[in-house]
Amino acid sequence: MPKYRTTTEPLPVPTPVTQPFWDGTREHRLLLQRCDAGHVFFYPRSHCPRCLSNRLEWVEASGRGTLYSYTIARRPTSPDFEQDVPFVIAVVELEEGPRMTSRLVEVEPGEVRIGMRLEVVFDDVTDAVTLPYFRPAGT
Ligand SMILES: [Zn+2]
Repeated sequence: MPKYRTTTEPLPVPTPVTQPFWDGTREHRLLLQRCDAGHVFFYPRSHCPRCLSNRLEWVEASGRGTLYSYTIARRPTSPDFEQDVPFVIAVVELEEGPRMTSRLVEVEPGEVRIGMRLEVVFDDVTDAVTLPYFRPAGT
């Protein structure tokens, strides 16, 4: 059962390109892609968005970052999330550079601040899908 959300639906549907990312979250590892020129990026793609290389590998991220932007969902973004509001939708700037859209947990919406230090937490929503969320670092 999920820890941070009230529903097991909807969930991401892995594709051949994104499957390694979701395999990683299931193991509570946050994986990013890196090309042979060293560019690190997210979301998962078949080619590097900077140099178009298709020679890519998966590397484990630290799971740390800072809050780049956010909004507070006071009305559900879909009927599935009716019980979850209010919740914080965040754009997290990871230490490795890429930004990841996620949800902030373990923080009151009124205490959210741009630039706050964050760390990843993993929500095992189902046996197949674990979602990465973020909470204030060191909590
Ligand atoms: Zn590249």
